Amino acid sequence: AGLPYIVGNWKMNGTRAMLNEARAIDRSAQRFPKVQVGLAPPSTLIFRMRDAVELIGVGGQDCHAKENGAYTGDVSAPMLKDAGADFTIVGHSERREYHGESDADVNAKAQAALSAGLAVILCVGETEAQRDAGDAEGVVTAQLEGSCPIADGAPEKLSVAYEPVWAIGTGRVPSVADVAAMHKAIRAKLVAIYGDAGAEVRILYGGSVKADNAAELLAVPDVGGALVGGASLTAESFLAIVGAA
Ligand code: 13P
Repeated sequence: AGLPYIVGNWKMNGTRAMLNEARAIDRSAQRFPKVQVGLAPPSTLIFRMRDAVELIGVGGQDCHAKENGAYTGDVSAPMLKDAGADFTIVGHSERREYHGESDADVNAKAQAALSAGLAVILCVGETEAQRDAGDAEGVVTAQLEGSCPIADGAPEKLSVAYEPVWAIGTGRVPSVADVAAMHKAIRAKLVAIYGDAGAEVRILYGGSVKADNAAELLAVPDVGGALVGGASLTAESFLAIVGAA
């Protein structure tokens, strides 16, 4: 389903000085025309990054479900679009954990993003306790059931990112067999939700993706790309992953 999609999530990292990394990533991305590349900087940098790059996609890390209003500190999907974003991440585990976002919240955010004309990367993933209890696939498919948007642009503008919470920022990654099993389960759920179109949705893997494990992870069936945190913060480490795709 389309080109491999490698997306960097800068999380709460980056001031204007880091636009140099974005420029370097953008310039080198031209050497990899068979890979789709995106960067999700803090929202303060979206506008400037849009101007600084030509080829790569620029995205938000979250959006509010409403278009505007009395929601101090929040940023809406039409605002991201207006700032030059092409896509937004929704439902990242750090949003679910630190901001108490439920599947229903994530669903509303995904719907809002699609309505604003943004592509969506919807994140799901189990905690270590849930995996140890044998519930990983049940948790993830329930998250999809509760949060997948049914709106204009879904599923064509939807990607799903499978990010096991215990693999984020830890240097630990699931076995290839576990990634394959989970992506297969996600694929089945997407087909159940969207019918044949669910077979085309890109499913990214995220959680401690680095240059030295990227090729192996990206070769797993139904892994259509990677959502990269720490290793997306420098052009050198991120481009090594792009090059492995
Ligand atoms: P790390 O690549 O730093 O583990 O982060 C993964 C992630 O959460 C991307 O959204």
